[in-house]
Amino acid sequence: MGDKAARGERFVDVAVPLAMPLALTYAVPWEEEASCAPGVRVLVQVGARKQYTGVVLRLHDRPPAVGKVRTIESVIDDEPVVSASLLATWAFIAGHYMCTLGEVMAASLPAGLKLASATRIRRHPDVLEGPADDRLRVVWEALGVREAMGLRDLASMLDVKHPQRLLNQLLEGGWVITEEELDERYKPKMETWVRLHPDFVDNDALLNAFLDDRRALKQVQLVMGYLSLAEDLGGAVRRKQLLAKTDVSAGVLKAVEAKGVLTSFEEPLEPVVGKGGALSRAPLPTLSPAQDRALSEIRDAAPLPALLHGVTGSGKTEVYTHLIADALERGEQVLFLVPEIALTAQLIQRLAVHFGGFLSVYHSRFNTRERTDTWFEVLRQGRRSGGGGGQHGGRLVVGPRSALMLPFTNLGLVIVDEEHEPSFKQHDPAPRYHARDVTMWLGAKHGVRVVLGSATPSVESVWLAQQGRVKHVGLTERYGGVMLPEILCADLRKAHKQRAMSGPFSRDLLLAMEETLKEQRQVILFINRRGFAPVWMCEGCAYVSECERCDVPLTQHKWKDQLDCHHCGYHIPVPRVCPSCGGTALGPKGAGTERVVEDLAQYMPHARVARMDLDTTRSKNAHSRLVEAFGQRQFDVLVGTQMVTKGLDFAHVGLVGVLSADRLLNHADFRSFERAYAMLTQVAGRSGRSGARGKVILQTFSPDHWVLDKVMRHDFSGLVEQELRDRRESLYPPYARLIRIVLRHTDAQRLTQSADALATMLRAAVGLERVIGPEVPPIARINDLHHRVLLLKFERKAVPAKYKPVIQQVLTQFSTTDKWKRIRVTVDVDPV
Ligand code: ADP
Ligand code: ZN
Repeated sequence: MGDKAARGERFVDVAVPLAMPLALTYAVPWEEEASCAPGVRVLVQVGARKQYTGVVLRLHDRPPAVGKVRTIESVIDDEPVVSASLLATWAFIAGHYMCTLGEVMAASLPAGLKLASATRIRRHPDVLEGPADDRLRVVWEALGVREAMGLRDLASMLDVKHPQRLLNQLLEGGWVITEEELDERYKPKMETWVRLHPDFVDNDALLNAFLDDRRALKQVQLVMGYLSLAEDLGGAVRRKQLLAKTDVSAGVLKAVEAKGVLTSFEEPLEPVVGKGGALSRAPLPTLSPAQDRALSEIRDAAPLPALLHGVTGSGKTEVYTHLIADALERGEQVLFLVPEIALTAQLIQRLAVHFGGFLSVYHSRFNTRERTDTWFEVLRQGRRSGGGGGQHGGRLVVGPRSALMLPFTNLGLVIVDEEHEPSFKQHDPAPRYHARDVTMWLGAKHGVRVVLGSATPSVESVWLAQQGRVKHVGLTERYGGVMLPEILCADLRKAHKQRAMSGPFSRDLLLAMEETLKEQRQVILFINRRGFAPVWMCEGCAYVSECERCDVPLTQHKWKDQLDCHHCGYHIPVPRVCPSCGGTALGPKGAGTERVVEDLAQYMPHARVARMDLDTTRSKNAHSRLVEAFGQRQFDVLVGTQMVTKGLDFAHVGLVGVLSADRLLNHADFRSFERAYAMLTQVAGRSGRSGARGKVILQTFSPDHWVLDKVMRHDFSGLVEQELRDRRESLYPPYARLIRIVLRHTDAQRLTQSADALATMLRAAVGLERVIGPEVPPIARINDLHHRVLLLKFERKAVPAKYKPVIQQVLTQFSTTDKWKRIRVTVDVDPV
């Protein structure tokens, strides 16, 4: 006893994946003290029965002020699996975005690392050899007999109290998987490779004899093709590439294989990660003088973050490439954040050319196993900084916002490409963080170099540059002196009056499309709605089919012959009889992508048309296949939603048509003009990226709208100036900080009462004029839950660290009031 007091008992604060406001404190048994470091996982008991995997945040010697002290059950890891810098990022996100550490942790850790007491394991289906270690082997053998096992089975079989460490070794070694992973059916995609049979490698005479065989010309052609592609005699080449290069059929390859000259084998497909380990496979691009200037300005900007404001097609990616090479040479890790990884195939290919062996792509469609692999790659790579060995993955990570929550240990540079994109902000669930803003924090507090890039930066970022807190770097010309496109409006009022509309196309647009195809160039048509028609309506009584669970009209999808709700998935067969008046004159109103494709078949029957929207790109590689096919000019016209506005680089597009610019301008949000400008400029930027000047036609009922005027004149600074003036006046970001509180409940009346009550409490706590609402949002009900919104506004001078705890207190008080217990409340700091 006395001994213990002298040594001093040790405690740890542990984050558990639950929405609990505070970290939990546990005592550490002395024999575990040595391994119990921050970032290590531990098993802890929460409540009466439940056990959770938690992560150690810190060690200390202050026992908890209240309650009985519990001891951790066991330590799972020998080394931290969460890096110190990631722990700091978690804490920042939880604090700034007003959520719990548990919520951040749950979003960050891949499921493979979140072992719970219910976890069950099985043998990895693709691994044939068991572990060598005796104790691990026992488990492996047993799993060959019984299919699955839980933690408790393991414990009793091995006669240990806490089998987590062993289980962990099995998981890390890849011998077993958890059942969750199995559900995701982990199957690596295979790719076929071809190589020269060893007999021929070792014997030139044999090979020459074959090559002299004149009768089998095609076969010889194939082998010659192999010889030119293979890096060394006997090296492997991709089957697909070989057949494409030599232009022979698969049958010829079979014949050559039958003769035993070439052999095929399969390997898991590695989509973009190169096999080499060299720093730079292809030499870095030579920059234009303007790009070169931008590069040195960015280099000189540090420690300030840089905002690379480069017009579309100015070659921002080329500049990034040099910055990445800098950082890798310094031995640092690099994070390249993109709005949506599924839409980035082109970019990834361009990066892979230079950094193949270093590149890890963090995909939002990854399964648990892939996520866990990337996690350890990033963790270990940082530790092993400087390189060595053949494995470099994890040095350069390309990913969406969630890639920020990987365990970097040596992060030197973060690039946020298309920094204006709203998808950098997470909406649901918590943590509702903004990846760009978290990156800015990393820059300010952890000395990470930050580069934000965009052709249409956010008003906030431009303002920060004006304040001297970010270095503005301009790139005002397109690469190769290509002109920015000519942008025109097509006046839909006039066109309708003059009966000059063909379906959704004005005469101007149709003529321009014909002309473009005649010039052997391609067309992109942008319409911000998928499906056939956004509304299904009765001509007789104006009845509109609506969702049963949401306050929105249902979208008609012709190919499925049904009406869908895009908010909750509710759907019905297309009604032919009006449920309101009994009439039969029901029909589609308005147009979506599907309808535009159909109309094109009527008005431009000779054009080859492809559609790009959520419905045509659901499968894993559909998007990149479409991009590739369009790039190779297998289609003349690409019809699509926002997807076509993002980062695509096609050489032959001569015309972009926007079918309706009006909907973009009609939103009530304070950011809608900024958004409209960005979206229109981005989609316009797909036109005329090389060769002759491109053209853009915006169809609109309001051709005199000031935002359209700015778009047509490429007048970004004019737009920002006007926006900043308006926002200063009405106190919106960047002059104010916003917190949006959403209340949801099935009963509208009760919800209204609760929202009023919360508004009153908040007004008392933070000041009358700072609380706006409650308001009914444009879509008042989603999935049977009614919504009310409160907006809190704080002038920029106010200190968030002061008012956030006050708000938190009010919210806690509110949600523990019996009357309001069932009202769901979410808090969104810096909403977008
Ligand atoms: P942005 O991202 O700014 O819209 P990109 O980086 O896509 O522009 O560049 C536009 C096009 O110009 C691409 O096809 C790119 O390969 C080409 N390009 C830009 N800079 C260079 C350069 N320095 N050398 C060769 N090609 C370049
Ligand atoms: Zn619905």
